[in-house]
Amino acid sequence: MKFLDEFRNPELARRLVEQIRRETSQPWVIMEVCGGQTHGLLRHGIDEALAGAVELIHGPGCPVCVTPVEAIDFACDLSRRPGTVLASFGDMLRVPGSRESLAQARAGGGHVRMLYSPLDAVAFAQANPDSEVVFFAVGFETTLPATALAVLQARQRGLRNFSILPAHVRVLPAMEAIVAAPDNRVQAFLAAGHVCTITGYREYHELVERAGVPIVVAGFEPLDLLEGIRECVRQLEQRRPAVVNRYERSVREAGNPQARSFVEEVFQVADQPWRGLGVIPSGGFELRDRFSDLNARRRFPRSAPLPILDQSRCRSGDVLSGRIRPRECSEFGTGCTPESPLGAPMVSSEGACAAYYRYAPAAAIPVCPLPG
Ligand code: SF4
Repeated sequence: MKFLDEFRNPELARRLVEQIRRETSQPWVIMEVCGGQTHGLLRHGIDEALAGAVELIHGPGCPVCVTPVEAIDFACDLSRRPGTVLASFGDMLRVPGSRESLAQARAGGGHVRMLYSPLDAVAFAQANPDSEVVFFAVGFETTLPATALAVLQARQRGLRNFSILPAHVRVLPAMEAIVAAPDNRVQAFLAAGHVCTITGYREYHELVERAGVPIVVAGFEPLDLLEGIRECVRQLEQRRPAVVNRYERSVREAGNPQARSFVEEVFQVADQPWRGLGVIPSGGFELRDRFSDLNARRRFPRSAPLPILDQSRCRSGDVLSGRIRPRECSEFGTGCTPESPLGAPMVSSEGACAAYYRYAPAAAIPVCPLPG
C-alpha cells in the first residue's frame, strides 16, 4: 500500500475486525499510548467495532495535556515580564495553568506569540534583538530534535536574547509507571508510531521482558491501528509478549540516528513532573550544563504567585492514566467543553476528552465504516 486512502479501506478494515473478533478468546485491555491514535480510534469507530473483544483505554500520549501546571504558570509569568516574549505552539495557549492560560495572560497584557517551530523562535529572536524571546518547549521525543536544533542554532548565531523553557517528556517511563501501578489494567500497548520514528523501539524490549506486556508500534490510520491491535491480541492469546513494529513504512528499529544525535548533544534525561501523574523518574529532558545559559529557568527569577483557581473538578490525571474514560468525568460536556475547557485533555487537538467530545456522538457514522 502506498497511498493514505488505502489505509482507510473499509473492506480491509472489516476483515481485520472480523479476524480480531475470531481470534479473541477473552476480552483484552489494550492501551493506545498516543493521543493521535485515540482520535483515530474514535473517529473511525474502531473502539465500538471491537467492543466486547478488546477494551481500548487511552494513554497519556498528549504532550500538551501532560505539561505540568507549574510550567504553564511560569510561562504566563514570563509573558508579563517587561521586554520578554513567550513563544509556543498554538495548542499550548488555551491549556489552563493553576491561575490562567497563556491566552488569558495575553488578553491581560502578556506578550505571547504563537509559532509553528522552535526554529521560528530563533529567527524571531534574531530579528528582535531588544526582546528576550523564550520558547516554551513542550512535546514528546517527536518534537525534541527541532528544539535541540533551535538551541544549537541560537548558540551558533551567538544569540543572547533567546532561551527555552524546557518541558519535553519521554514516553517509555510513563508506560513503565502505568504497568507498575497497583491498579493497572493494561495488558498490551500500542506504542506511538511518530515517537518511534525518532527513538526507534530497541528500548521497549526491557519493559516487555520485565512486565510481560506486548508492545506493538502502530500508526494512526484505521488499518494501522487494527493491525496493531490484531498483533497485540495474537501475542496475548499465545502468551508470547514481544516488541513488534507494525508501522514499517515510517519506523526503523534504530529510529532516526541524526535526530537522536542532535538530541544527545543538547539534552540529558531527567526526572520530570507530568500533569496528573506526578513526577516520573527519567520522564523528561533537561538541557545539558553547557547550554544552561539558554535555560529560562536559570536566566529569569520567579515572580510572586498570583491567586490560584480551583482545579479540583478536573479528573485529567485519571483520564491520562486510563483509570476513567472522559465521559465518566462529571464535568464532561457540561462544565467542560472545548469552548470552555476545565482541563488540558479538553483543549489539545490530541486530548482524549476533546476526542470523545468531537467523535463519540458521531461514532455510528464513522469515516471508515466498520461493523459493530
Ligand atoms: S472532561 Fe474536562 S474536567 Fe473532565 S477530565 Fe476531561 S478535561 Fe478534565
